[in-house]
Parts: sequence; C-alpha cells; structure tokens
Amino acid sequence: MSLTWSLKAFSLGVVAFSLSLELLCWLFGRLKHRGTLNKVLIFPSEVACVEYLFRPNSVGLCFCGLPHGVETSFSHLLRYILSASSSLDLCLFSFSNIDLKRAVILLHEKGVTIRVVVDKDYSAITGSQIGCLRKAGIRVRCEADYVHMHHKFAVVDSRLLITGSLNWTLTAVQCNRENVIITEEAELVQPFIKEFERLWVLNDPARVYNNL
Ligand SMILES: [Zn+2]
Repeated sequence: MSLTWSLKAFSLGVVAFSLSLELLCWLFGRLKHRGTLNKVLIFPSEVACVEYLFRPNSVGLCFCGLPHGVETSFSHLLRYILSASSSLDLCLFSFSNIDLKRAVILLHEKGVTIRVVVDKDYSAITGSQIGCLRKAGIRVRCEADYVHMHHKFAVVDSRLLITGSLNWTLTAVQCNRENVIITEEAELVQPFIKEFERLWVLNDPARVYNNL
C-alpha cells in the first residue's frame, strides 16, 4: 500500500473514531437526562377540591361544593410539594395560600425539615400564613436587607426545584397568569440550593443581631 493510501486510511480511521466518540457522548447525555423530571405548570389553575391530597383515604367522601377528581396545575403543584420526604426549603415573597400552608405544616408534622426565608414586609401583611408556620414550630427567617426578597422557589429533598412567577397566594393560583417550572436537572437545582443556603446564613437572627 502506498504512503498516500495509508494516510487516507489513517485519516478515515480518525474521522470514524471521532464520530463514534461523539455518538457515544450524545447517547450518554440522552440516557443521563432520561427519567429526569421536567415539568411546566401554567396558572391560573382550575378550581377543584384538593382534599384527597391531604387525606388520601377521603377520596369519594368529600362533599364540598368544588369539582372532584380533577387534576389541575394547583393539584400538581401541591403533589410535588407533598412529595417531600426529608426536607423542604422555601424562599418566598408572599405566602398567604391556606392549602399551601396546610401542606407545609403537614410535612412538618411528618418530620420533614422545613426552612423558610421570606420578605420581611410581606411576612407581616394581612392574610400572611408565616405566623401560622412559626406557631407550628417551623423555622422562618426574614430577609430585610433588600427592597424585596422577591424569590419564589422551593427545593424538595435537595433534588427537586419548584420555581417561577407564582407567589403562594390564592390570587396568584386562581386569578393571575403565572408560570411554574419543576425540574430535577442538577445544573438548575444546585444554584438555587446555593442561593437558599446563602440567604439562610445571611438572615440568621444571631448574625443579624451581632452586626447591629
Ligand atoms: Zn371536596
């Protein structure tokens, strides 16, 4: 075989090897993301009974006036929050929704570690459920350094991120045009975990008091 043909064969081999490598990387990427949860919820949500999410044994036994057996954006949201088994970190601007408060307290009673960072001003407005969380023994820290602590995100079990435009209020859930993204993509979840830890430490009452 001439030198030219040998070089051509070698080049073709290199190209084939590169293509195989690229194909393997693509397949690996696909496999890695297969099964990773990614979901978008659009609000306002239909209004329907969510009692069955709090008391699974009550299916068919609730006689309230709301539609039953209907899955809505809100029921999906509640389901993901209630899926917490070890921890729930909340970073919220406004929290006045009774069902969401009920879900958080239920998790707390089940032994899930709950931490909440909220906006200082909005934690005290009429209808805010932050006082109820505190009363139940849930740790809440207020962010007072900025104009507003305007985040609206939750991290479930340090692996599932729930974030978007939705404040945890009845108006946002039932009346406003809002969006929520729910994802297990580590590249997206990790920065939110980092931000939560940063705000949690930053607003530690002991630290704030010592800096006065
Ligand atoms: Zn009902």
